[in-house]
Amino acid sequence: MTSSLHLLQDQFRHLRMVETADELPVLLRNAEKSSWTYQEFLGELLMYEMKKREEKGIQKRLKWASFPYLKTLDEFHIEEQTSLSTRQINQLRELNWLEQQYNLILLGPPGSGKTHITIGLGVEAIQKGFKVAFSTMGELTHLLKTEEYIRKSQMRLKRIKESDLVIIDDLMYMAMDQREANLFFHLINHLYERSSIILTSNKGPEEWGELMGDQGITTAILDRLLHRVEVIQLNENDSYRIKHRTTIFGKESVETQ
Ligand code: ADP
Ligand code: MG
Repeated sequence: MTSSLHLLQDQFRHLRMVETADELPVLLRNAEKSSWTYQEFLGELLMYEMKKREEKGIQKRLKWASFPYLKTLDEFHIEEQTSLSTRQINQLRELNWLEQQYNLILLGPPGSGKTHITIGLGVEAIQKGFKVAFSTMGELTHLLKTEEYIRKSQMRLKRIKESDLVIIDDLMYMAMDQREANLFFHLINHLYERSSIILTSNKGPEEWGELMGDQGITTAILDRLLHRVEVIQLNENDSYRIKHRTTIFGKESVETQ
């Protein structure tokens, strides 16, 4: 009996059901103890394997995302800020915007919670099965500039391009030169209508042109980013408005697009 159990475990391993192979003695004992029917036993066994695979998938995607630290939306205290309501946070965490490839732009001064919210949304997306990649604008610029000759940069950019959600933190923290702006445009163009992008910045889009140095490229980038976007302003005294955008918070629903 023991050797046949080992044989079964080897067969499960051969079929790449490693978790079930390890758990098999427990599953068999439970089946006997609870007098499971054959069908119940099979159901329990498959459910176990699927649950373990899902957990592994989440861990893998969390690693792939490269968050600087882990924060959840539950840890974000809504009562400590006045820019976002509970309803808005809940709407964001439903991730309809991600399914519909909407972009989010989070604007606000340092410390207003931009990075926290984006990581929280990223974690939610990963738990729902999406692939997420997080990068600061500084890191991203470095990756783009070294893509041709550093394999690690190449691999990271490949992951970014394959992600359902790309988070670019601290856009416009520093001015870009023409080449950097060009490389950035090509990435945005690749992601456009393929992935959702979350951008955070402490400067509004009206100042981005100045920092990118080239009005033409800025317009091309903004065209793609702002086509389907929700802008979230995290400080109170915002003075800017983006025209011709639809909102996922307002009455106008995204389905009417
Ligand atoms: P930003 O990216 O806008 O500069 P962060 O997201 O890095 O700001 O926030 C700074 C710190 O304050 C982080 O540790 C973050 O978790 C925390 N923080 C900011 N706002 C809140 C909030 N409303 N509830 C809980 N923690 C917050
Ligand atoms: Mg930040």
